[in-house]
Amino acid sequence: MEKILYLAHTQPDGTLPKIAFEVLSAALELTQKLSGATLSAGLIGGDVQTAANAIAGAGAAKILGVAGPDFASSRYASDAEALQVLIRQSGATLVIAPATSRFSRAMPGAAYRLNGRTDTHVSGFETDGGKLSIQRWYYRQRMMATMTRTTRPWILLMDSGVFQPWQGKTGTASVELVPVALTEKAKRTQVLGFQAPAVSQQTIRPDAELLFVAGAGWTKKQSDGQTHVKEAEQLILDFLAKTQASLGSSKSLVDQSTEGAAVLSCLSHLNQVGQTGSTPRHPKGLATCCHGEEPHVVGWRFINERRAVNLDPNCGWAQGKADVLYVADAFQVMKKVNELAGKECVVQAK
Ligand SMILES: Cc1cc2nc3c(=O)[nH]c(=O)nc-3n(C[C@H](O)[C@H](O)[C@H](O)COP(=O)(O)OP(=O)(O)OC[C@H]3O[C@@H](n4cnc5c(N)ncnc54)[C@H](O)[C@@H]3O)c2cc1C
Repeated sequence: MEKILYLAHTQPDGTLPKIAFEVLSAALELTQKLSGATLSAGLIGGDVQTAANAIAGAGAAKILGVAGPDFASSRYASDAEALQVLIRQSGATLVIAPATSRFSRAMPGAAYRLNGRTDTHVSGFETDGGKLSIQRWYYRQRMMATMTRTTRPWILLMDSGVFQPWQGKTGTASVELVPVALTEKAKRTQVLGFQAPAVSQQTIRPDAELLFVAGAGWTKKQSDGQTHVKEAEQLILDFLAKTQASLGSSKSLVDQSTEGAAVLSCLSHLNQVGQTGSTPRHPKGLATCCHGEEPHVVGWRFINERRAVNLDPNCGWAQGKADVLYVADAFQVMKKVNELAGKECVVQAK
């Protein structure tokens, strides 16, 4: 019988991120499906009481916590030690935790110290015959593997966007604080603060309803023989501001900056979607001035409804890669869409 430990870490304000609630749903489902399994929780943070209260109604048998200034920020040495202590203390055979950058960095170290195994980017599981198998994508989401392990503890880092966030009752939780002794060496790295772009430039929004993709066509010569890069940038930024969509890009467009061509200043390589870019998860996607070639569209694996605007009726999107292709000039289309959005017509991808 499996002893399941759900692990999460707090955000700087002491609350849990959305992915932590998604993974809590996964942990509860797993506990329910594995006959005789028990569930406990473990939290790491500067102060874990708010987070513990938020999951008080989930039904974990106990909530363990590692708290204090040393655990407020992400740091490999202290996090790996805290995770190891929590897993050991709980006696867990299965650990389920969100694949945040903080846990993705430290969890493999904890698994090694426990002589366990960890699997990252887990996107689902099956429990047929009372035996747990997990699912994970490989080769840029082209192949899905179903696999199992006999080694315990087996630690699963779950991807976001797979489970609905748990929305149960909050309460007043009693947290069993677990002491973690850190050596001076483990405290050598100091987090001095965060450097992040201004909110207005923060164009990657993983929780957005809509992914808006800009392709290289925005910077190409248009029917008047001229390029209109500034106008393109304004149209895109207007649309993002009005819809709060997340901004993706084709490789050709972001590559232009390294090649010295005129580019959209709101884009970086982090926006690139595709085989050598990201595979974001959004309910809807709209591609504009992007040809829809396979190395790009492979990054749309998890975009459910797809639309594209392209001048070329034979572009890749027309080859079964989009639900709707508007054969039109994206400059005109987006200008009109932005006008309508300004009048509060429903442009948001609902
Ligand atoms: C190994 C490898 C990995 C790759 N990885 C990636 C990746 O991760 N992501 C990625 O994106 N690409 C990737 N590529 C590149 C990919 O094959 C394409 O070259 C790239 O996606 C093309 O970008 P694009 O569609 O924006 O540009 P283009 O192919 O130049 O297409 C521009 C489009 O804009 C349209 N257009 C122009 N003006 C307008 C207008 N006014 N209105 C509407 N439409 C207009 C044109 O009709 C055209 O279809 C990879 C390639 C290789 C070989």
